[in-house]
Amino acid sequence: MILPMGSRRTTAVVLGAGHAGLAMSRCLAERSIDHVVLERGEVANSWKTERWDSLRLLTPNWQSRLPGYGYDGDDSDGYRTMPETIRFIERYAEVIDAPVRTHTTVTSVRPGDEGYEVVTDRGTWRCRAVVIATGACAIPSVPAVAEGVPAGIRQVTPNRYRNPDELEEGGVMVVGASATGAQIAEELHRSGRSVTLAVGEHIRLPRVYRGRDIKWWMDRVGVLDETLDEIDSIERVRTVPSLQLVGSDDRHSLDLNRLSEIGVKLVGRLAGIRDGRAQFAGSLANQAALADLKMNRLLDRIDEWIRDRGLDDEHGPPERFERTRVPESPSLGLDLRKGAIRTIVWATGFRPDHSFLDLPVFDRKGRIRHDGGIVEAPGLYLMGMPFLRRRKSSLIDGAGDDARELSTHLADTLTNRRMAS
Ligand SMILES: Cc1cc2nc3c(=O)[nH]c(=O)nc-3n(C[C@H](O)[C@H](O)[C@H](O)COP(=O)(O)OP(=O)(O)OC[C@H]3O[C@@H](n4cnc5c(N)ncnc54)[C@H](O)[C@@H]3O)c2cc1C
Repeated sequence: MILPMGSRRTTAVVLGAGHAGLAMSRCLAERSIDHVVLERGEVANSWKTERWDSLRLLTPNWQSRLPGYGYDGDDSDGYRTMPETIRFIERYAEVIDAPVRTHTTVTSVRPGDEGYEVVTDRGTWRCRAVVIATGACAIPSVPAVAEGVPAGIRQVTPNRYRNPDELEEGGVMVVGASATGAQIAEELHRSGRSVTLAVGEHIRLPRVYRGRDIKWWMDRVGVLDETLDEIDSIERVRTVPSLQLVGSDDRHSLDLNRLSEIGVKLVGRLAGIRDGRAQFAGSLANQAALADLKMNRLLDRIDEWIRDRGLDDEHGPPERFERTRVPESPSLGLDLRKGAIRTIVWATGFRPDHSFLDLPVFDRKGRIRHDGGIVEAPGLYLMGMPFLRRRKSSLIDGAGDDARELSTHLADTLTNRRMAS
């Protein structure tokens, strides 16, 4: 058969050379499945182009185990800076000799003669299987209320924010108090700006508990390995906010108490902006109490795990932390036209961009329909989404198990189709 100009064949095409695409590449190579990894930028592109300067991983160094690769330095409890994270992922691509084609943007994935056609700005690939690993955090989710922001106030999303020097002087409203919002609020406050933090649902955790990193406990106790069948509401766990944590040398906890102590003003969830006036929900105390309750539930589970194994002597005594202090009458409104706020940072989450898929695989909300990464189209797979197969799926440390299982399914599908034809 003569292929059209610029058209090539391979067995599988992996979209995206972040850690998830690379982990899948490694697993496909182990099975001798011929494939390419197509990347619109360079390896680790998201970390190179979409993160702020001071960001450090909130997962400790040891917690980035990938198939055939892991941390081999002498600071396993430390937290990688962005340059270190980029180097770590670049080295992974080198070590596994991943067949990455950089600067190749996928513009369409559509049905092909034996499976799929992957159309890029550098020609078309024909293949039998496609793995989508283009990232869960491609597009910042900005709520519709943003439409009401008065002209003259600069609006910034976390993928474009780099450091405080880039913002003009004056007050900032940070919307969202999960990892991203809490970290940026702290940094902007330290730059001398007055910061108002609009707090919705969030997950509070101490950085260190009974002498060990909270991520160590979550790993040890089995929280991060929880799978889909252990969960009541999959819909719910796939949308939980990120943990209110930061990676730093002094290993401090980054909770609302710390932020209000340094002078960040806490208000409730941003509910609307009408006639230039921001309106905040009156639920701040409830949100904080709920976060405290959930934190204590996890700490109870850790204590129980330690007790059941008779390990109390090995760790410090159980700790409980001061409840979150919130203002007695938090402000319910803020006139954005008065000039006190010069910038709004939307730290309101992220969503994926799968707009290149020309296949009928989306649900009514525009999300890919899949069962643990196995998409409702033979030979099509998804990686790197929150709770794809287990709680740790969207973390670097979670890609390995998912890639192993999905590559097994992919290999079986190829074999079955070969036998059927
Ligand atoms: C602010 C922030 C902090 C985080 N901190 C941590 C942490 O501490 N620890 C942790 O384990 N995880 C963390 N994560 C989560 C997660 O590890 C990262 O989001 C990670 O980048 C996801 O890896 P990935 O391989 O799934 O996607 P990405 O790293 O986003 O890789 C996807 C790749 O696909 C490419 N791509 C996209 N569209 C196309 C296209 N059409 N054609 C070709 N290529 C395309 C992109 O350029 C990109 O390189 C964090 C996430 C964010 C946003």
